[in-house]
Amino acid sequence: MSNNNDPLAIFREPSDIDWRSDEEATYDGLDQRVTSLEEAGTGDITELTTRVQVVETEVDRLVHRPVPALRARGAVVFTWDDGWDTHPQVAQWHADRGQKATFYLTTGLLGGAQHMPASAVADIFALGHEIGSHSVNHVSMTGLTAAQRQPEWDNSVATLDGLIGLSGQVRSYAYPLGDHSDVTDREAYLRYDRVALTGLAQGFIGSSTKAGNWLLRPDYEGFKHGRFPWNQQTHSQLMAILRDQVMANAVTLTTYAHQIGNPDTPTEEQVLEALDFCEANGIPCLTTAEALPGPKVVNGGFENDLVGWTVITAGAAATGTTVSVVDDAPATGLNGSKSLRIVSPNTTTSSDSVTVSQTVAVQGGRSFALSAQIRHEGTPTGTGKFSVRINEFDENGTSIPGRSVRGTASTSAWAQSTAWPGESTAGASYVGVLHPDTRLVQVALYVQEAAGTFYADHVYFGPTTYQTSTTARASLFG
Ligand SMILES: [Zn+2]
Repeated sequence: MSNNNDPLAIFREPSDIDWRSDEEATYDGLDQRVTSLEEAGTGDITELTTRVQVVETEVDRLVHRPVPALRARGAVVFTWDDGWDTHPQVAQWHADRGQKATFYLTTGLLGGAQHMPASAVADIFALGHEIGSHSVNHVSMTGLTAAQRQPEWDNSVATLDGLIGLSGQVRSYAYPLGDHSDVTDREAYLRYDRVALTGLAQGFIGSSTKAGNWLLRPDYEGFKHGRFPWNQQTHSQLMAILRDQVMANAVTLTTYAHQIGNPDTPTEEQVLEALDFCEANGIPCLTTAEALPGPKVVNGGFENDLVGWTVITAGAAATGTTVSVVDDAPATGLNGSKSLRIVSPNTTTSSDSVTVSQTVAVQGGRSFALSAQIRHEGTPTGTGKFSVRINEFDENGTSIPGRSVRGTASTSAWAQSTAWPGESTAGASYVGVLHPDTRLVQVALYVQEAAGTFYADHVYFGPTTYQTSTTARASLFG
C-alpha cells in the first residue's frame, strides 16, 4: 500500500489551515527568512537588502493575512458496548465534560461478572446518555432464525425500557459481533431508527475503501453506520483523526469500545486523553441518535395507523376508495399485527390510481432498495397491478426523468415486492443505485389499473447491496 506511512493520507485534502496561532506562524515564517539570510552569509550587500525587503513584505503579509473564518468542526459519537462494570464511571467522565455518549447494553449480561448492575442503566440514562440495545444474549444475529431473532430484538428493548422507566427511548441497535445481512437489516429497520456495525475488525490501515464507513458526511442518511474500533493500539490513530479530521471537517466519527483496560479497549489514561481533547477543542460529543437522526420510513409496519403516510387518488379512484389499517400480518417473523388495506373498486383504467406514500430525504448515488410484503384479495380486475414504487426527485423537488420504478405485482398470498432504483427503466444509468442528483425519494404502495382489495406491510426503504442476479435479488429480504 502506498499510504502505509500515513494511514490518514486518504482523508487528507490540500489545506493551508495552520493550526498554530497566527502569532506562532508569523514568527515561524520570520525564522525561515532569517535562516535563509544567514545562509547567504557575506553575499552582495544589494542582494541582502533585497532579501530584507522580501522578509519585510513576507512579515507584512503574515501579519495582515485574513484570519480564517470559523473553522469547521465535526462531531464524535463515543459508543460503549456490552454494559461492562467500568461504564458507569465512563458515563460520569463524559457527563463531567458536558459530553453525551451511547451505551449499547446486552441485557442478558447485566449483573454478571465484570458487568454493570441493572440498576446502573437508569443512572446512565439520567446523565443524558443514550441507551441502545445490543441484544439479549450477544449472539450472531445471522446465525439465528427469524423466530429466534425476535426476542433478541424485542426483549432487550422491553427490559431496557423497564429499567429506564420510560418506553420508546431505545431507538438504536448495535449488532453483536457485527454480523448482519440484508434480512437482519430489514428486521432492524422496522424496530430501530439506526443500526451500528463494528467497522473494520482492527484499525483501518489497509482498506482505503472502507475507512469512510466510520467517518460520515453530515448528510449521510445514517441508518446503518460503521464504527471505529478504539483500542490500545488504535488510540493514537483516533487522536490523529480527531485532530486532523474532526476538527477540520464537518464529519461525524463514531467509535466503539468495551471494558476499560482490556486490550480491545483503551486504557483509562487514553480515554481521558480523548475526552479532554474533545472538551478542550470544542468538539461536540453526541449520542448516536443526535448525530444520526435518520431519516427513514416512518411507521413502515402500519402499527401506528396511517401516521407518516399520505393517500393520493387519481382518476376514478377519487370515488369509492378506502384506505385503512387492519389486523392482518404476513407470517414473516417480523413484528406487529397490523397491515395497510386499500379498497379501490374503480381503478380500472391507466389513469386511475391510489398512492399511499411518504417522502424520504436521501443522498443520491447510493445503493438502496424499497421492499414490502403485499397481497391482494380475490381476483383484481384490470390489466394493471398493485406493487411498491420509487420516484426520485432532485434538491428542488423536480422529478428526475426515467427514475420511476415499480416492483413485482401482488399475488393472493403475502409476498415480497421489491424495487431497485433505475432497474426497470430501459437504458437507465445507475441501475440499482439512486441517481447522483437524487435528494428526495417518494416511496409508495401503488395501485394502478387494477380494481380490488390490496394489503401491504413491513415497508423497508434503506441501504442494501444491489444484486445483479434476479434470484439473488428475490431472496435478499427473505
Ligand atoms: Zn458486544
